[in-house]
Amino acid sequence: MSRIHLLEPALANQIAAGEVVDRPASVIKELLENSLDAGARNIEIEVEQGGARRIQVRDDGGGIEPADMCLALARHATSKIASLDDLERVASLGFRGEALASIGSVSRLSLVSRTADSDCGYRLETSGSLASGEPEPAAHPRGTTLCVRDLFFNTPARRKFLRTERTEFGHLEDVVKRIALSRPGVGFSLRHQARTVFSLRPAEDESGQDRRLASLCGPAFVDSAIRVDVERGGLRLHGWLAQPTFSRSQADLQFFYVNGRSVRDRLVTHAVREAYRDVLYHGRHPAYVLFLEMDAAQVDVNVHPAKHEVRFREGRMVHDFLFRSIHQVIAEVRPGDVQVEHREHAALGESGGTPVYQGGLAMAPAPGRVSEELRGVAGLYAPPAAGHRDPAAAAAGNAPVAPDGSAVPPLGYALAQLQGVYILAENADGLVIVDMHTAHERITYERMKQAYDSASVVSQPMLVPLHIAVSEREADCAEAEAAFLESLGVRVERSGPESLTVREIPSLLREADVEQMVRDMLADMVTHGTTSRIRAHVEDILRTVACHGSVRANRRLTVPEMNALLRDMEATERSGQCNHGRPTWTRLGMADLDALFLRGR
Ligand code: ADP
Ligand code: MG
Repeated sequence: MSRIHLLEPALANQIAAGEVVDRPASVIKELLENSLDAGARNIEIEVEQGGARRIQVRDDGGGIEPADMCLALARHATSKIASLDDLERVASLGFRGEALASIGSVSRLSLVSRTADSDCGYRLETSGSLASGEPEPAAHPRGTTLCVRDLFFNTPARRKFLRTERTEFGHLEDVVKRIALSRPGVGFSLRHQARTVFSLRPAEDESGQDRRLASLCGPAFVDSAIRVDVERGGLRLHGWLAQPTFSRSQADLQFFYVNGRSVRDRLVTHAVREAYRDVLYHGRHPAYVLFLEMDAAQVDVNVHPAKHEVRFREGRMVHDFLFRSIHQVIAEVRPGDVQVEHREHAALGESGGTPVYQGGLAMAPAPGRVSEELRGVAGLYAPPAAGHRDPAAAAAGNAPVAPDGSAVPPLGYALAQLQGVYILAENADGLVIVDMHTAHERITYERMKQAYDSASVVSQPMLVPLHIAVSEREADCAEAEAAFLESLGVRVERSGPESLTVREIPSLLREADVEQMVRDMLADMVTHGTTSRIRAHVEDILRTVACHGSVRANRRLTVPEMNALLRDMEATERSGQCNHGRPTWTRLGMADLDALFLRGR
């Protein structure tokens, strides 16, 4: 690592100002970032009283030269950047040169460090002030130990803001976990009040990474996780997405990293949400651990003093990449998949051989509330009645399960229908149970979306043009993006500096609250550079039609009909969840059944 130096005042002034130390969790964040920047392979953390009494971090990284130790604790002193150019392409976690100075000014700090080519360590201590004096020799292996005692001892007002020991420790532990997730190759151990909270060994391979993921996010997350690895146009997204059926009531299992740095970013959250929108139950939150890697010059990390936020230079492109990558990975999960490895270059977004509906269940007509036109769409795509099915396919439906299991499709072959609600089927592994209404609803819905997508949008003029008052910025945006809006079926004209006139809307949405919809669209476009409101409204309507058009519970199905439904599920995107995010099927493998009967124990 290079030596520590004071930043030029002009450069120091460019750095996002503000206090970074507000509680023990922010101290641990800065100390861990320093250890990682120093190339540590193992980091040991000890905490007392939630961190208020003591936070100690020992690493085996590169260490600090004795002559630099005093400078390490000074403000605007860093070894990580030296010029404006460096600031524009930060490759390390730290770069502000302020953390140790800030921490040192509100605690009793001790720094002991030894570099690879020194034969002993050195210690420097401060107590609520800048370091003075010379470091003294002290025993220490290669690496650095930073010990922060009595946080805020000299600023009682700030000390008062600390919560209970348990709360503070909870926040601190979260930070350690968040960082440990991003660096599977580094060992982390955390002790609180002399008790080991966790100890994570460095992961050497993929199974080690899965173990770390399981210990930090829980085994249920790992079981339902889809491995993602997508690369396009200089952006790479990798990590894990939970299948939509593993959703959370809170946004508490969402980890996102940009170039290894954990960030909270509205654009990112929005893109991920959008990608899950069609498969998640309303009000549920997706779970994910995702890493975005990109050219450091394309992302500004100097936005927030605590470095929790970033700014993408090409926000719209990043949003689009995230949305499309995640959307496609979710769509591709089919029955039978456990983990999907998804790597491609440039092919993203091209539709891959979408299955054509050939058989199955007659669709009931859409109810009266839904517009005429949609009834047309539904009718157009109503599959042929069961009696018209291809006899060869029907015969295949009765095929027995092959003894070697090789030819058995993932959802197997139907055995029976249970209480008019569930289909029981046998596959190579055991028993498959399908909720026939929810499964059929998803298939119908996916097919209707395809139908809608393959026809161009039909707009109709508003009977009475709608005038709406907006901000100047929104009006500018509507004007600049008129072509984009028109491609969505919305024709808007500017009628004043802060007013718009809506002249045409997609005919499907004529019953929607047009004013609210256009306002929401403009808000999206101003914040995210794009909008998917129209799509969301259309999908809501299609979902309603699909629900009414799908086979009801209590309808008797023949075996060929049931098999046709199973084959359709295998061929349909997102068929593992119904349109409300509930699972459509589950399995009881032979091992599960044996366990139920205590067999073979
Ligand atoms: P920054 O990380 O932004 O550079 P800090 O105040 O956190 O600023 O640290 C100041 C300097 O001290 C760092 O640039 C680095 O050179 C050195 N340093 C801090 N912690 C460690 C550590 N654990 N191991 C090696 N060097 C460290
Ligand atoms: Mg730092």
